Amino acid sequence: MLSEQQILRIPGPSPIPPSVQRAMSQPMIGHRGQETKELLQRIKPKLKPIFGTEQEVLILTGSGTAGLETAVANTVKPGDEVLVIITGAFGDRFAKICNEYQLKTHRLDIPWGEAVLPETVQEYMEKHPNLKAVFVTFCETSTGVVNPVQELAKRVHTYSDALFIVDGVSCVGGVETKIDEWGIDLLVTGSQKAMMLPAGLTFVAASDRAWTVIEGNEQPRFYLDLKKYRDNAAKDSTPFTPAVSLLFGLEQALQLIEEEGLTQVYARHQLMMDMTRAAFRALDIPLLTSDKAASPTVTAIEPTDFQAEDLRNLVKKEFGLTMAGGQQHMKGKIFRIGHMGYCSPADILQTISIIEIGLRKIGKTIELGAGTQAAQEVYIEQLIQGVL
Ligand SMILES: *Cc1c(COP(=O)(O)O)cnc(C)c1O
Repeated sequence: MLSEQQILRIPGPSPIPPSVQRAMSQPMIGHRGQETKELLQRIKPKLKPIFGTEQEVLILTGSGTAGLETAVANTVKPGDEVLVIITGAFGDRFAKICNEYQLKTHRLDIPWGEAVLPETVQEYMEKHPNLKAVFVTFCETSTGVVNPVQELAKRVHTYSDALFIVDGVSCVGGVETKIDEWGIDLLVTGSQKAMMLPAGLTFVAASDRAWTVIEGNEQPRFYLDLKKYRDNAAKDSTPFTPAVSLLFGLEQALQLIEEEGLTQVYARHQLMMDMTRAAFRALDIPLLTSDKAASPTVTAIEPTDFQAEDLRNLVKKEFGLTMAGGQQHMKGKIFRIGHMGYCSPADILQTISIIEIGLRKIGKTIELGAGTQAAQEVYIEQLIQGVL
């Protein structure tokens, strides 16, 4: 095996395009100088279509969780009643942050592998009229589920005055997102998933409604105070030293997304999901989620007659292919394939055919090539239909 040839198929961090890698190696510049100001000026308008907003998309230095904490610290205060919709490990993280901030946190726990139903949320809202905010995970990375955020936003706004706050970390940039049109009040994402960058940046955009709440919120906060970021963004600046190298990379990543076209980017992710799911169906290995709930950025597989960890270890050792395992109670029960950001149908074909060898080697009886062929058929079929 070539030690430098790593095939990274986890749901973040994801691979970095070579031109983004090169952009990040540029010499450092002064963060208060004209160059940084112009860099931010060029970046700002390019972020908006990815988030589907006319609002400013604010950039903080920190991993995705810093963005989640920012959402909580700015919109609510101790004692406020909130609802957290939990479809997996990242919904659970949102609830833990809310608990830490001494909110009156209601958990709506959904079985892992399923998406929340809008009716379920509506019923909850009707019973709890004092909710100040509803938190949900767009793509639940731990299970490969996409929650119906557009429909959820509608229900939340129809039945309450609560802010609707979304963790979009593992899908924004790979899945269509329309903050303004759908009525999302605050959306957070990170850099190391579908945005094709290393970890280190978190992005936050808020609605006018959310800004009114944020401005009136006396909850103490300093580094995570969104008002500081907004006031500085208006001057093409940041309140604290930005991760300049990541901003160099961000400009290039946004350039690549613009060149490919957002519609094509979304179609590519959809296609990779379809190819991956078809492959495991052909191999007769169960998928964790239904087609309807499946995420275009990550697929979870739930084997019944072999050990997920045996397969993960074998493909890592022999081919340098890294897949993710399960989190919390799903540990050892599932494995997950990330197909987001700098990832293409070619990568999926490679991944599936390696997995087939791995399956044989750990002793599972399969027909070599059956999964790969199914993925090839999906690719050719979609090409005929003019998807790509
Ligand atoms: C990766 C991820 C996060 C953030 O995790 P960090 O490790 O802090 O970057 C949050 N939510 C979801 C859904 C994620 O996939």
